[in-house]
Amino acid sequence: MPTVTRGRAKGQGQWALGHREPLNANEQQKKDDNPLNVRARIENVYAHRGFASIDPADLRGRFRWWGLYTQRRPGVDGGKTAVLEPHELEDEYFMLRVRMDGGQLTLPQLRAVADVSTRFGRDTADVTDRQNVQLHWVRVEDVPEIWRILESVGLSTQEACGDCPRVILGSPVAGVSAEEAVDARPLIEEITRRYIGDPAFSNLPRKFKSAISWLPDIPYECNDISFLGAVHPELGAGYDLWVGGGLSTNPMLAQRTGTFVSPERVPEVWEAVVSVFRDYGYRRLRNRARLKYLVKDWGIARFREVLETEYLGYRLPDLPRPPVPERLTDHIGVHRQRDGRYYIGVAPVVGRVSGGLLASLADVAERHGSGRVSATPMQKLLVLDVPADAIDAAVADLAAIGLSASPSPWRRSTMACTGIEFCKLAIVDTKDRATALVAELERRVPELDTPISIHVNGCPNACARTQTADIGLKGQLVTHEGRQVPGFQVHLGGGHGVHAGFGRKLRGLKVTSDELDDYVERLTRRYLAGRKESEPFAE
Ligand code: SF4
Repeated sequence: MPTVTRGRAKGQGQWALGHREPLNANEQQKKDDNPLNVRARIENVYAHRGFASIDPADLRGRFRWWGLYTQRRPGVDGGKTAVLEPHELEDEYFMLRVRMDGGQLTLPQLRAVADVSTRFGRDTADVTDRQNVQLHWVRVEDVPEIWRILESVGLSTQEACGDCPRVILGSPVAGVSAEEAVDARPLIEEITRRYIGDPAFSNLPRKFKSAISWLPDIPYECNDISFLGAVHPELGAGYDLWVGGGLSTNPMLAQRTGTFVSPERVPEVWEAVVSVFRDYGYRRLRNRARLKYLVKDWGIARFREVLETEYLGYRLPDLPRPPVPERLTDHIGVHRQRDGRYYIGVAPVVGRVSGGLLASLADVAERHGSGRVSATPMQKLLVLDVPADAIDAAVADLAAIGLSASPSPWRRSTMACTGIEFCKLAIVDTKDRATALVAELERRVPELDTPISIHVNGCPNACARTQTADIGLKGQLVTHEGRQVPGFQVHLGGGHGVHAGFGRKLRGLKVTSDELDDYVERLTRRYLAGRKESEPFAE
């Protein structure tokens, strides 16, 4: 029997409590037709009849379940974001998100993405901080052919967006790391095979973000569910289960459930957690629909109780708190694998690449004996499996295509979301602004010897994790000399691991986009002048 929820939670659209009637337009759309069904209409109707033929409920709703968002109409400034109607904001082109569960790609897969970008996406490609690749300028007419190309190499755009299980983050060095005790790739593959595209999980209250990694190289506190590597004193290597994280406008860090999950149980525990969310999640208000609100209202003890008694049918072992990682590992540079070969981590600036660059990356990797690359949740790229005698040449060839394995701390630790260039929710520019910021700081403060993470976001939605950066920037209009101009609210001192927490949002701490270089330079010089030995910025 479902647990009865009293008080405020009653009537929030929780299916398990019998509230099955849609309480808003999004829920109605999902009920009217399973969003996954839109694929057939794209293939059979819209791709032939063009953009104008697309039903608005598909265009602005169900298309997302296949990784498609309309992109922002060029030239619409950020002041208009909140006031224009959707059709006035959007263009007739799409952003297409390709999911890369676990982040690793074979070279044929990388070349397929590059091919799609150059042929159908005006050579655009961004490596996102969720190990996806996003392409832009895609026409609906080309989508079936794009799917054919991607699916021929085992890639997919299914449930890359929408109220469903999104891409599963995984260690970009899973299977090769010398420090890894459990390789999560088979677990990620099994979950993807069993549940992605399963209609039982294609109508969740909101998006559902997952992460599974032995190493602390994923932002595990920021997901709806995370399995982070841990050793149980009696049961051995497995995972520490975290739930209820999410950033956006009301950020919450995930909480430990205090349970140990052995590797073979990961898929069923994942299924159970997503089922709790589907059945008990709040569907009335979209801004209260993420799992984090349910976890907050219930508390972790009750969440665990419901998970174990109603869904799993058994108790999970307790897990004492494992050691907390110092910070997230970014894998930049040259590192030895457990098989004696090496991986090389390189830093495209704020994840911006291109189809041409990805094709060149595939060529460099192949030339030096590697058969695969991976993307990190810090918008960076790794070339795996490089033999020892090929390292120097591989590093040189990567640098020659703009992918440095020894980037400046600025380049290494700066991320940016999509921003006003393509995103309909954006208020300010991010990619170009952050790229210019990195170049300027490399020139002005070349002596920086430690990473300071800068996360540039175009609006409060925090897709580039505003709150967990040393310097988090949230795009908004700010008043400058009596005028509203693009700028940022500044959050200072956020982090992961032992520094886990949200940056302080100081009242009045806002900076215009034009003043950003000067501001970060001043802040850095103050930190460098005042720090005690190896004191990180977060402190
Ligand atoms: Fe768009 Fe805002 Fe997300 Fe940036 S943070 S990608 S502007 S929704």
